[in-house]
Amino acid sequence: MSVMEMSHRGKEFTSIIEKAESDLRTLLNIPSDYTVLFLQGGASTQFSAIPLNLCNSDDAVDYLVTGSWGGKAAKEAVKYAKASTIWSGKSDNYTRIPNFDGSEFEQNLHARYLHICANETIYGVEFKNYPVPANPNGFLVADMSSNFCSKPVDVTKFGLIYAGAQKNVGPSGVTIVIVRNDLIGNAQKITPIMLDYKIHADNKSLYNTPPCYGIYMCGLVFEDLLNQGGLVEVEKKNKAKAQVLYDAIDESNGFYKCPVEKSVRSLMNVPFTLEKSELEAEFIKEAAKEKMVALKGHRSVGGMRASIYNAMPLAGVQKLVAFMKEFQAKHA
Ligand code: PLP
Repeated sequence: MSVMEMSHRGKEFTSIIEKAESDLRTLLNIPSDYTVLFLQGGASTQFSAIPLNLCNSDDAVDYLVTGSWGGKAAKEAVKYAKASTIWSGKSDNYTRIPNFDGSEFEQNLHARYLHICANETIYGVEFKNYPVPANPNGFLVADMSSNFCSKPVDVTKFGLIYAGAQKNVGPSGVTIVIVRNDLIGNAQKITPIMLDYKIHADNKSLYNTPPCYGIYMCGLVFEDLLNQGGLVEVEKKNKAKAQVLYDAIDESNGFYKCPVEKSVRSLMNVPFTLEKSELEAEFIKEAAKEKMVALKGHRSVGGMRASIYNAMPLAGVQKLVAFMKEFQAKHA
């Protein structure tokens, strides 16, 4: 019987979801006072579930907006809390992360939480360290959809981490939430039952039929990441891959350019433009002939974007770099 056919309440599937959770706990060193939830609805559903579960409608909550995903999360939170965007990188086209020393943004001292998007997928901007909430009773919330399990993370720095599975750990349809236990159980009265963390926590993510096959696949990926030596080793590989690509861009004498400030360049999403922007369509076409696809930048920013998630081998990046050099030689 395939996982697709099994009852989600049968002992076979129970062992699958329990092993997936246990392997994820090992990978990220998740302490026992945190609950792991396997949910549905994508990371976008969490944009609403987070304020609904973690604060009252008259509580202040702060959002640092370093790209469009953080912006979407903030926009949704306004409906359920007194949400403020305390910094936005929009005027710099989302190419940087602000300083945390108080010179660029001021946190609301009563904010229940501070929300960040740890890696902005479209712009390729990644937090390398994390701001501390100004409210001693507040906590940090992070959208890690596009860098989840790409490197070790100190979970204890966060009240809640969430991620759609589809970039690094499994098929779309599974959303993972890691939430500190004391934050569960205070959902606003209007919270739909399917968004209530307590319902899912009490039912071990089996309140209704979960995305069984997706969870099974995530479990296989967690096992594989552990076999690779865990996230320390995974990060080493990701750093090596990203370095090869960023070096090629930086050493191209301006033929290729990455707009993101060097210190916060993403290990996962590498955006770049061509000095001669009229060649971009040709670049995409020629790359496709070499079987390198999905290089077009997001429709909102243009240019190119190479997403080099965990599953992309170094050889794939090396092939892209060789192509970029050849293309430059032809067109410089
Ligand atoms: N947050 C980030 C950082 C993303 O990259 C994405 C999707 O690409 C989302 C949220 C939205 O995720 P979903 O499509 O699972 O709702």
